[in-house]
Amino acid sequence: MAASPLVYLDIDGVIVTDRSTKLGGAGYIPPGSAAMVVDILDQTGARLVVASTWRRDADCRDKLAKAGIGQDRYFIDWRTPDLLPEEEIADVPIRGSEIDRHLQRHRPARYVIIDDDPGMLPHQKHFHIQVDPSIGLTWTDAETAIALLRG
Ligand SMILES: [Mg+2]
Repeated sequence: MAASPLVYLDIDGVIVTDRSTKLGGAGYIPPGSAAMVVDILDQTGARLVVASTWRRDADCRDKLAKAGIGQDRYFIDWRTPDLLPEEEIADVPIRGSEIDRHLQRHRPARYVIIDDDPGMLPHQKHFHIQVDPSIGLTWTDAETAIALLRG
């Protein structure tokens, strides 16, 4: 069982938005957005799990570190698994299923999902902070995450 609460983090539409891309180019993570993620972790003792497709990039953690999310912030199994094509079930959202696989493996006492993708499983909905991708992560979202992680 995971001893710390977990934050399942999406990146595109959450800390990378159209606005940040205009500001700093493709894939630019504004330090202010990264700081909100760090604040959630600081205030709750939660560890990070990357649920974004960025998890498949070799330099995913380096890019996040450059924005201010340190290498010491991750849960040991730091990214959600990829489902094999034959494991995908029709009409069941893929993002939610990937997160569910990780949840079943580690059974954290508390968790939140911060993602603009609505595709979560019914039992995850209460723990899902659905970010508006046109705005990105807000302090209101961060406060909701902190409240959920504190239980
Ligand atoms: Mg997204």
